[in-house]
Amino acid sequence: MELMKWWGWGSEKKEYGLKKNKKLLSYIQDVLGLDLREYPKKTFENITLPDITVSKKIIDELKLLTNASTEKHDRLTHSMGKGYKDLVRIRNGDIRQAPDVVAYPETVEEVEKLLNYAKEKKLKIIPFGGGTSVVGGVETTCPGTICADMKKLDKVMSIDTVSQTAHVQAGILGPDLEEKLTKAGFTLSHFPQSFEYSTLGGWIATRAAGQNSTKYGKIEDMVEALTMHYPGGKISTKTVPASASGSDIKQLLIGSEGLFGIITDAVIRLHPLPEHKHYSGFILKNFDEGITTLREILQNEITPAVARLSDSEETRAMMKIGSSDKGIVNGLMKDAFKFYLKKRGYSGDEVCMLILGFEGPKDKVRFDFETAKKIVRGAYLGTSPGKQWLKNRFELPYLRDDLLDLGILVDTLESATNWSNIPCLYAKTKQSMEDSIKSYGVKGFVQTHISHVYREGASLYYTFVAKEVKGKEIEQWTEIKKAATDTIISNGGTLSHHHGVGKDHAAWIEHEHGKKGVEIIKKLKECFDPDKVLNPGKMGI
Ligand SMILES: Cc1cc2nc3c(=O)[nH]c(=O)nc-3n(C[C@H](O)[C@H](O)[C@H](O)COP(=O)(O)OP(=O)(O)OC[C@H]3O[C@@H](n4cnc5c(N)ncnc54)[C@H](O)[C@@H]3O)c2cc1C
Repeated sequence: MELMKWWGWGSEKKEYGLKKNKKLLSYIQDVLGLDLREYPKKTFENITLPDITVSKKIIDELKLLTNASTEKHDRLTHSMGKGYKDLVRIRNGDIRQAPDVVAYPETVEEVEKLLNYAKEKKLKIIPFGGGTSVVGGVETTCPGTICADMKKLDKVMSIDTVSQTAHVQAGILGPDLEEKLTKAGFTLSHFPQSFEYSTLGGWIATRAAGQNSTKYGKIEDMVEALTMHYPGGKISTKTVPASASGSDIKQLLIGSEGLFGIITDAVIRLHPLPEHKHYSGFILKNFDEGITTLREILQNEITPAVARLSDSEETRAMMKIGSSDKGIVNGLMKDAFKFYLKKRGYSGDEVCMLILGFEGPKDKVRFDFETAKKIVRGAYLGTSPGKQWLKNRFELPYLRDDLLDLGILVDTLESATNWSNIPCLYAKTKQSMEDSIKSYGVKGFVQTHISHVYREGASLYYTFVAKEVKGKEIEQWTEIKKAATDTIISNGGTLSHHHGVGKDHAAWIEHEHGKKGVEIIKKLKECFDPDKVLNPGKMGI
């Protein structure tokens, strides 16, 4: 794998190239009132890390237990995740804490030794997969911390082609996993936007969702069994398709965000590689029509792999992106098409884009697509928008780096609720963010999509964009996040549909689970990790 940019997303060799997309650039300039100057980031050499707090003896002993590094690059890249706040701080060289040591265990025995050693020496351990957390899940919060990077535990140990499951180590990265499964004729079909740089263990620890979740489920639906090591022991859940043996321990460990132990391996549920894929696009009159369309598709027992509805703001932005070769809707708004839409009573300001993707046996795909097409309240655009979306679906995180260079605040947050509450939660959360952006006297916008759809409801995924208030970026971001999260919580949404809790959502954990719920999580923590070795300061525990 290419080395990840320490200050941004993805390979150091890869750039989004915003400057080449003049249309998008001038759109951004217009809506945000920017002068398009570039803000320099600190150079690697100019970044100072906090001093190492553990003794040389401890470092030497750790090096005997496992691969362990105290190199600046390792400590810096493991000090936080890849959310907006992380990127601003790392670009500004604002590194308040960093792990003293980064360990790269290669075997489960090394993981065990590391955990036991940390317990004995009263050190802290942060389990680290790809480090792509956007909620402060891997942030170092105190001195005396070892970061346990799991990426060397990356083997597919066996594939059971009869049961269609695979036993896989937790540190494997998305592309590596899919490549190995593809060779055997299978797929997990878990494709989060962070797919290229996130790991199986991280997905399980955060209850992640991939872009194909509507058909294939979230990661918690894909795990048949798992093993987690904690200081002084391990727990393995049974490899069975279902069980009625009391409470579901596996589901208590999924989403534990590294607080209880280190997940070392899991048995995952596979699907044969789909015989056929059909991805296409539709244009709808407005977001409400889209919401009804998606609900009716799901409630008519039609399950697309991908169902992605953008609101009008996101559709507009996609069209601007579409004017480059990375575009999703190249040529979509050509004059003839605009004329056609106008004739049907569609207003350019309100139209929304819907991508539907179907996968599976050819006849079933055809039937499901034709049925869905009849339900969709909108105009069919053909397969080209669907194909383009599929091709470019991991590109947008690279654009974020270019926006940050221009002094633009850009981040995402998400929730989920039932259909009857979707319009209300959508509008109120959006409004709360827009008000918060305005309160700083800058221009900005909020765009939303629905991308994980269920019979009874859906997720709402917001991207908020604003001109940064230089010197106050974190404060500005915190205000928007707080306004949105308060609104989500008081209007029936979940604190997180797939990003998790981490440090950033910890303040709301009791609103989500109630006092008793938090007490249960605390008791579980005490049961696995009474000395509080693991991932301190996360989830409010
Ligand atoms: C650009 C971008 C796009 C994203 N898109 C999506 C998306 O589409 N869907 C989605 O769900 N999320 C998304 N995320 C969030 C993030 O990628 C997910 O939370 C992902 O599941 C984290 O995986 P990771 O391997 O990077 O874990 P990390 O970030 O390393 O860790 C996340 C949490 O899991 C714990 N952890 C990691 N590995 C283990 C282990 N083996 N055992 C125990 N605990 C462990 C960590 O301690 C931490 O609390 C995105 C993030 C970015 C930056």
